[in-house]
Amino acid sequence: MGIAVENVSKLYGSFHAVDGVSVFVKTGSLVALLGPSGSGKSTLLRMIAGLEEPDSGEIWLDGENATYKSVQKRQIGFVFQHYALFKHLTVRENVAFPLEIRKVPKSKTQQRVEELLELVQLRGFGDRYPHQLSGGQRQRVALARSLAVQPRILLLDEPFGALDAKVRKELRMWLRKLHEEVNVTTVFVTHDQEEAMEVSDQIVVMNKGRVEQIGTPAEIYDHPATPFVMSFIGPVNVLPSNADILPDKSLVTATTDQIFLRPHDVVIQTSPDDATTSVKVYRIINLGWEIRVELVLMSGETVNAYLSRDQFNQLNIKEEQHVYIKFKQAKIFPTYAVS
Ligand code: ADP
Ligand code: MG
Repeated sequence: MGIAVENVSKLYGSFHAVDGVSVFVKTGSLVALLGPSGSGKSTLLRMIAGLEEPDSGEIWLDGENATYKSVQKRQIGFVFQHYALFKHLTVRENVAFPLEIRKVPKSKTQQRVEELLELVQLRGFGDRYPHQLSGGQRQRVALARSLAVQPRILLLDEPFGALDAKVRKELRMWLRKLHEEVNVTTVFVTHDQEEAMEVSDQIVVMNKGRVEQIGTPAEIYDHPATPFVMSFIGPVNVLPSNADILPDKSLVTATTDQIFLRPHDVVIQTSPDDATTSVKVYRIINLGWEIRVELVLMSGETVNAYLSRDQFNQLNIKEEQHVYIKFKQAKIFPTYAVS
């Protein structure tokens, strides 16, 4: 049955850290809670864990109302950003720790620890101490330890947040593979949209204590429900309703509307057609794997277009050149104040 969060709220004083949130996490799936800092992700995770009690609403685990159940009874594994391993214990002893306090027989513990070290690809590191490991290896030990007692649910709160970008990318792929092997229902908190897109089956986008949208990575990217989601997931051009870009002005219903346009959806041409608008190339930024072209509309606004190398080479455009653009798709939303 997985996890059902039903209309849960948490107040700190009069401040709604989590405000009427409902989320369903299917058994065996990996769901990301994604949102900016302060959007209530950790508070929600802590309530699922039982470390915090909701002010209203209910949390159901495997078909049982667990709202007021203790942490111990929920059979949950955790990994936090700074999950301090025991410094004076070896890797093997750290992973064995939760089994020992549960008085699991020694031979069984030994076998389980070896399995877990294999699983997190740290075979041969069992005798090391935490200070003899890299940050990424330490988090893998933390994950092995959290899986030791075979939790029903795994909760990860920005587990790779303190690591550098390259290691984080490697660990994402690794986590995805691990999840496919272990298949424990997992909730993964992150503020990094790429991380959420790459790792999870479903993404819950949070903002100011509320859920903005729930969907697969592709749904969220291609069909953002709100201007917040569109701006938070991936790059976007936000233009006023009167920008000289829409061939069909009837799309805009109010002067307060804004046009949201992904840079990857902007098509550049060197000759006009019925759907194009005339623009000037202002700047070309070559990132190697992608070329970013800054364009200026007749009405003065800037539009960014991201092109592949092939597209760019075919076009053969230069700064200051007049070209024509159209777009594959755009979204119209009411005015959105970026805060
Ligand atoms: P996130 O994990 O998305 O960054 P949090 O869930 O940690 O967000 O926090 C959500 C909001 O609740 C923040 O504004 C934070 O300051 C506030 N908050 C979290 N924990 C407490 C607390 N124990 N007391 C008061 N305010 C808190
Ligand atoms: Mg947090």
